[in-house]
Amino acid sequence: MEFLYLAVLIFTLLLLAYNRVPLMISIAIMVSLTVAWTELRHLFYVPSWFRFANGIFAVTLMGFAIKPLRRLLISDRLFGWFRKVMPTVSETEQEALDAGTVWWDAEIFSGRPRWRALLKTPKPSLSEKEQAFLDGPTDVLCHMLDDWKICDHYRNLPEEVWSYIREQGFFGLIIPEAYGGLGFSAQANSAIVLKLASRNQTAAVTVMVPNSLGPGELLLHYGTEEQKKHYLPRLASGEEVPCFALTSPSAGSDAASMNDTGVVCKGMYRSKEVLGLRLNWNKRYITLAPVATLLGLAFKAQDPDGLLGGKKDLGITCALVPTSTEGVTIGNRHMPVGSVFMNGPTQGKDVFIPMEWVIGGQERIGQGWRMLMQSLAAGRAISLPALGVAGGKMSALMSGAYARIRKQFGVPIGFFEGIEEPLARIGGRTYRMDAARKLTLVALDQGHRPAVLSAILKYQLTEGSRVCINDAMDIHGGKGVITGPSNYLAHAYQSVPISITVEGANILTRSLIIFGQGAIRAHPWLLKEMEAVQDSGTEARRAFDKAIFSHAGHIISNLVRALLLGLTAGWATRSPTGGPTAHYYRQLTRMCAAFAFSSDLVLITLGGKFKFKEKLSGRLADTLSHLYMGAAVLKNFEDDGRPEEDLPLVRWAMDDSLYIIQESLKGVLRNFPLPGIGSLVSAIIFPLGSPYSQASDRTGKKVAQLLLSENASRERLAAGVYLSDEDDASGRVHHAFHLVLTSANAESAVGNALKEKVNWGNYQRLVKRAVESGVITEEQATLVRMAQQAARAVIEVDDFPRKQIEEFEEPAFRPATKSG
Ligand SMILES: Cc1cc2nc3c(=O)[nH]c(=O)nc-3n(C[C@H](O)[C@H](O)[C@H](O)COP(=O)(O)OP(=O)(O)OC[C@H]3O[C@@H](n4cnc5c(N)ncnc54)[C@H](O)[C@@H]3O)c2cc1C
Repeated sequence: MEFLYLAVLIFTLLLLAYNRVPLMISIAIMVSLTVAWTELRHLFYVPSWFRFANGIFAVTLMGFAIKPLRRLLISDRLFGWFRKVMPTVSETEQEALDAGTVWWDAEIFSGRPRWRALLKTPKPSLSEKEQAFLDGPTDVLCHMLDDWKICDHYRNLPEEVWSYIREQGFFGLIIPEAYGGLGFSAQANSAIVLKLASRNQTAAVTVMVPNSLGPGELLLHYGTEEQKKHYLPRLASGEEVPCFALTSPSAGSDAASMNDTGVVCKGMYRSKEVLGLRLNWNKRYITLAPVATLLGLAFKAQDPDGLLGGKKDLGITCALVPTSTEGVTIGNRHMPVGSVFMNGPTQGKDVFIPMEWVIGGQERIGQGWRMLMQSLAAGRAISLPALGVAGGKMSALMSGAYARIRKQFGVPIGFFEGIEEPLARIGGRTYRMDAARKLTLVALDQGHRPAVLSAILKYQLTEGSRVCINDAMDIHGGKGVITGPSNYLAHAYQSVPISITVEGANILTRSLIIFGQGAIRAHPWLLKEMEAVQDSGTEARRAFDKAIFSHAGHIISNLVRALLLGLTAGWATRSPTGGPTAHYYRQLTRMCAAFAFSSDLVLITLGGKFKFKEKLSGRLADTLSHLYMGAAVLKNFEDDGRPEEDLPLVRWAMDDSLYIIQESLKGVLRNFPLPGIGSLVSAIIFPLGSPYSQASDRTGKKVAQLLLSENASRERLAAGVYLSDEDDASGRVHHAFHLVLTSANAESAVGNALKEKVNWGNYQRLVKRAVESGVITEEQATLVRMAQQAARAVIEVDDFPRKQIEEFEEPAFRPATKSG
């Protein structure tokens, strides 16, 4: 009988933990159960040891309910230990941690995501005005861009392009209408950058920089009204060209360690002696700097003479310095790989600025780092992810088309399984990248500033673009390798490392920021525990007691959920939708519990040292990223109206994400810092072995087929890019693809009837014979001829007279500046 009781007890415990029943209610239920048992025991024979154990269990449970007792025995003792093992957080780290908000990342860390809340999030949309700008000026600008000439001849945007960008307000996308800007949403900002990037990176970067972290964004959030009124209309109209200088030769990723200084002093401004700062800086890699009229500058403010009456080291500060100011050096250019946007160094020697040039005025001195981190919390999700998705979409569009146009062994290369594989990777990845982009933008436009999700987007979408473009290059073979006006891939391929490096280089973002920041910000209890142990008073101990017991409940619940969901292959949870995606909702719920449980164990085991375990942190970042991107894929499918024909893309993306989640978690557990624990946790979260494998060949084939034909899925996948209808590199591919597809039946009929495959060498002869013998009509014959000619034009690559290539003008390089 006691076994039955034990089974009921364990089952009840599991049920309570699985459903996250609050501690007090759980205790009440468990105590009632033991009391009921004590009463019932008169009816049966029960050994005395069992009665005794049951009594102890009931008393222990009640002990947990008496807060002063549990504090005395448990949480107060843990309090001191926690203070010791908690990560030490520097001021700049704290400001980075405080930046932004949490959103779906908190649902993932909870281990029990609320899918219905996600599905209630609105669909991405643009206002009429935004759509009109995208279809109007953005298309016109794209039409003006000749990638080859810009990158390889002018090494700059032509003057008419600069003028058009200014006149149409491209520099003021995010500036509110009240200040003369366009006041566009994050969704529109991203859509414009994406479209431009699908045509020419240089133009995209030129437009994106004034609309991301820089003077405009900083003024909007932190500027004084006077500064806003003066600068925002001038920035919106393009009268001022801004740049923002944070990076120094000595301080790259660790930007906060800069040596650039601003010393509080008195100086002359407009013929009057005023309080201000004397600046000295040496910055590099600054986009738009060579042509900037307004330099946003980050430096460390110091007040050695105590003129402001407080600390000597005032901290990182941001100011706006007109580049015409005496002592400012600007104008030289770096040459970033594959792209020719303006980028260069700047130096300042004893530049005096009045206090009113500090963004937000004197009271904002020392708040620069916080301002930058807050801006990045949202900004990282907009510009660079848009560039990344443009890379994915163009790779999908062009590779599918090229693989259908290009034949080898008499067959379009896309029909070979070897090419199907990279095509499927491009298609599935691009679908996932775009889904994540759109979902995050919706969150931004709702007012969220999800710092961790923005970092995920920055890392995953720029990295995803690299993988897509690499695959696209392989599919194109020599066509991708030979540069010239007919090449539409090489510049995108060359410039991939730029997006990967800027706004937080990817290795650092992956291995330090995503999980490190996510674990603290998005975890339901960790931050509360950390905040509680900052103090040592009674209130702090009470807060700690609540947090630590809730945290313990959270871990137990995730352990139970991970185990039960593992044993039932996800069937123990419900999906918010039916149909083919229900399975994926259940698997993501299962993996959220597994991730939440594993990350808690890593945090408990390593304490404050976890931030130095970058390999574990990187793997957990990958898990977190794919849990988020997987959710975005499912949401995107719903937003698109669940189109049946998109299922191969959804399946490929989800299978791949689940596989990466599994392998990343296994990597964490294999390398778990305490021996034995990893295997134990692995047995809990993967009790029946490895449940996920990469997308099947069948799914891959279906994805490839979507890219190799004209269909609604392909259109949705590539939506937002600029489709050229001109006789240029990409326009020729779209044109030929359409002709090749529409003439395919006629071409097969000719080949079958005349027992000879149609190719460039024989098509004139074969088509003529086929018309004469009535195999095809004259109309069909024209189509086949046009398709052959168009395909040939696509397959051609450029060559140049030797003289033109070998002529080399020695550039007037300036020797590199010394590290400063
Ligand atoms: C084309 C271009 C445009 C730019 N535009 C601007 C601009 O407009 N304004 C501006 O202020 N800055 C700009 N930057 C700077 C950029 O945003 C980066 O911050 C900067 O390039 C990083 O510094 P670094 O190149 O010296 O790399 P380093 O900091 O030297 O990093 C080298 C490598 O080490 C890795 N790494 C560093 N620390 C860690 C760590 N703790 N853990 C793991 N890995 C780590 C990095 O991820 C990277 O892979 C630009 C850079 C480029 C190349």
